[in-house]
Amino acid sequence: MDLSSLTIKEASELIRKKEISPVELTRVVLKRIEEKDPRINSYITVLWDEAINQAKEEEKLIVSGNYRGPLHGIPLSVKDIFVMRGVRTTCGSKILENFISPYDSTVVKKLREAGAIVVGKNNMDEFAMGSSTENSYFGPTRNPWDLDRVPGGSSGGSAAAVSASLCFASIGTDTGGSIRQPASLCGVVGLKPTYGRVSRFGMIAFASSLDQAGPIAKTVEDAALVLNVIAGSDPRDSTSVRLPVPDYTEHINEGIKGLRIGIPKEYFIKGIDPEVEGAVRKAINFFEDLGAHLEEISLPHTEYAVSAYYIIAPSEASSNLARYDGVRYGFRSPHCESLRDMYTKTRAQGFGAEVKRRIMIGTYALSAGYYDAYYLKAQRVRTLIKRDFEKAFERVDVIMTPTSPEVAFRIGEKIDDPLKMYLSDIFTIPCNLAGLPGISVPCGFNSEGLPIGLQILGKPFDEETILRVGHNYEIHTSWTRRKPPFA
Ligand code: GLN
Repeated sequence: MDLSSLTIKEASELIRKKEISPVELTRVVLKRIEEKDPRINSYITVLWDEAINQAKEEEKLIVSGNYRGPLHGIPLSVKDIFVMRGVRTTCGSKILENFISPYDSTVVKKLREAGAIVVGKNNMDEFAMGSSTENSYFGPTRNPWDLDRVPGGSSGGSAAAVSASLCFASIGTDTGGSIRQPASLCGVVGLKPTYGRVSRFGMIAFASSLDQAGPIAKTVEDAALVLNVIAGSDPRDSTSVRLPVPDYTEHINEGIKGLRIGIPKEYFIKGIDPEVEGAVRKAINFFEDLGAHLEEISLPHTEYAVSAYYIIAPSEASSNLARYDGVRYGFRSPHCESLRDMYTKTRAQGFGAEVKRRIMIGTYALSAGYYDAYYLKAQRVRTLIKRDFEKAFERVDVIMTPTSPEVAFRIGEKIDDPLKMYLSDIFTIPCNLAGLPGISVPCGFNSEGLPIGLQILGKPFDEETILRVGHNYEIHTSWTRRKPPFA
């Protein structure tokens, strides 16, 4: 049996019954990383020794009867945006190339407490800015379905690693689509929880009012198992919400008869790849066979979402990134003549082009005289977008759309055209602006064998429903069982 191809649910059953051991499972995953990752580049750091040592500890616990639950002994990875004690955390940037964190992010802490084995830190666009993982200082990640194509971004390393079975699941972050879009392009499941559902403590900030962590997994059920562990309020993150965390697997097997599905007409626009549209429409119609009702809805302010996002996110980023000054963290430019010279050279040499572009846009939008015209206006548009969703959710339980307007594009295809790159997230961004939960579930392949994703959006804190809906689709279709050629 190829252990690496199991789901978390399957592997954890075998671990619980002591039929396989965490050490055995971790060795299988590390060996695959050693063989496959030089071509895919989905990891920035692999914890070769630490992972085996931790697996040995977990094994002892399990043998002595202290089984902790479904993630116990399961090899996972995290995007290199989550700090981890004693381990390098780069955020895909030269400026943090050698930064070693003195503490654990809450996500990592919770994974460790659940007995999961963190095998490494995944590649990503620098500071999570991008849609292709080409903005990483550590080189692009390649898509396991076609090595000449991008895996999406910014959590492209996470999605590629899950897709190529180089971990059982990974934690990504989603500010404007960075969990769902790479999941879609790599043929795996990506869940962006409601803003505030998962603690942001120790997760390097990009745009604080939008950033949210969530699982990228092989199946919807696996995503639910991971969310069970990482969700919940955290005294260290004042924006994490104090609501009880349900068991996200409890109702996942219930049917969807009578479910009301909204199809927003603004998401089926000119320019969307016809094969993507075809697969998504087919998937949506399949829900009708399962007993759901489809209803066309309108989210009239959708067309302003990308513009509002590209004011709000860079504004917040320009403020968050002010801390990288060569004094407190990571890289410092050598040979500086004065303090000012040191700041300037450190930032000029430490940040990549896209990060600098965002800092400049953000600083401009926030500066005196422009604040009202840009930032405030964008925040107002954000409210209108949120209201569109509130109104729609009075009539429907979930909303379905394509995750991305296209399949994985070629490496290099958009890197010189930021606007083209920004449009990759046209269908994922509104959900972040409104703070809603959303999931991308594989729903087919195009004629070249590249994966296509269906996006399911839910009401605030109703991750349970989108997980149940996604799971219902998944068990009636076989898309998630297909394996990429380079895995
Ligand atoms: N691609 C979008 C951006 O570049 C979203 C990134 C994200 O969700 N982290 O900002």
